[in-house]
Amino acid sequence: MTKVLYDQDIQKEVLQGKKIAIVGYGSQGHAHAQNLRESGHDVVVGLRPGKSQQKAEEDGFQVVSVAEATKQADVVMVLLPDEHQTAVYEESIKPNLQAGNALVFAHGFNIHFSQIVPPADVDVFLVAPKGPGHLVRRTYEEGAGVPALYGVYQDVTGDATELALAYAQGIGAARAGVLETSFQEETETDLFGEQAVLCGGLTSLVKAGFETLTEAGYQPEVAYFECLHEMKLIVDLLYEGGLENMRYSISDTAQWGDFVSGPRVINEETKGRMKEVLDDIQAGKFAKGWILENQANRAQFNATNAKENQHQIEKVGRELRELMPFVKQPLQEKQKDVKA
Ligand code: NDP
Ligand code: MG
Ligand code: MG
Repeated sequence: MTKVLYDQDIQKEVLQGKKIAIVGYGSQGHAHAQNLRESGHDVVVGLRPGKSQQKAEEDGFQVVSVAEATKQADVVMVLLPDEHQTAVYEESIKPNLQAGNALVFAHGFNIHFSQIVPPADVDVFLVAPKGPGHLVRRTYEEGAGVPALYGVYQDVTGDATELALAYAQGIGAARAGVLETSFQEETETDLFGEQAVLCGGLTSLVKAGFETLTEAGYQPEVAYFECLHEMKLIVDLLYEGGLENMRYSISDTAQWGDFVSGPRVINEETKGRMKEVLDDIQAGKFAKGWILENQANRAQFNATNAKENQHQIEKVGRELRELMPFVKQPLQEKQKDVKA
């Protein structure tokens, strides 16, 4: 089994006395900045003027421009949306990096797909929490953490691995487990997971089930509870104890149905299509499409998003959730927690 590292395996001294610039103060940014500060590290936040800047200042951080933060820091963590990183990197980060600095990411996309080509004289590594930013913060406050992957792309100082581990520890990830990866593996598995299983696979499965029931004449409210609402209860059981734990908790009738019907819905043909999705990711085809879509001002993204929000399952869901105030999270957190 791959070695999973925990707090006791990590030397944090390598980050001591180093200044860390957190660039961006969104889902991941606010969590990294606050956790690192509370772990005793020296943090400066790099931002443009705006909402995030105000929030970071309210949270007691020194906020400067991205260029200035890069100049001041030894370690620069890029926590901007992936599609904006290249422009900000070219304009504000690259000209201010110094030899021996560390350039750090939470997702390998831009390095792996050559949208950012770092200079040869800096360390480049990633520390990628396997969970949404708001959980990175919340679990840290609770004394726990979200597991993370780390990977080194370029090691000029000889300290890149130790720095990555100390950083992961600083955000609380070593309480949950830290695992080595490469930029390629992190990027490809992260994209595949969110497309085929966690986000794309799940939303398509839920919608197909809902549509099958409503098209057969069943009430949309019943179909909503059956195909969407109950998902969380099932997923909690999976999270806590795997497939066996979930199957232990459901009825034997449900378990028999799981065995005989599950493989009729998700079968070898579905797996073949998952393989096609993976092939597109590995070949850079997905990345190219997403980069071009952004250059086209997200014409297709916005149109699809508007259409999806009008789906019947969303309309009926909004009405039903109004009557179940306990399922609601604060709006901002809800928006952010859906990011994978
Ligand atoms: P967010 O969308 O939450 O981050 C937005 C932040 O970036 C805001 O503070 C925003 O400031 C700032 N920003 C956007 N554009 C610019 C710009 N041009 N100049 C300066 N600041 C800018 O990003 P995430 O936290 O979701 O993602 C950050 C990285 O973490 C990505 O690489 C992502 O793949 C990775 N990741 C994210 C996860 C998640 O949970 N979301 C999980 C694991 C990895 P403003 O208010 O001014 O717009
Ligand atoms: Mg992910
Ligand atoms: Mg992702």
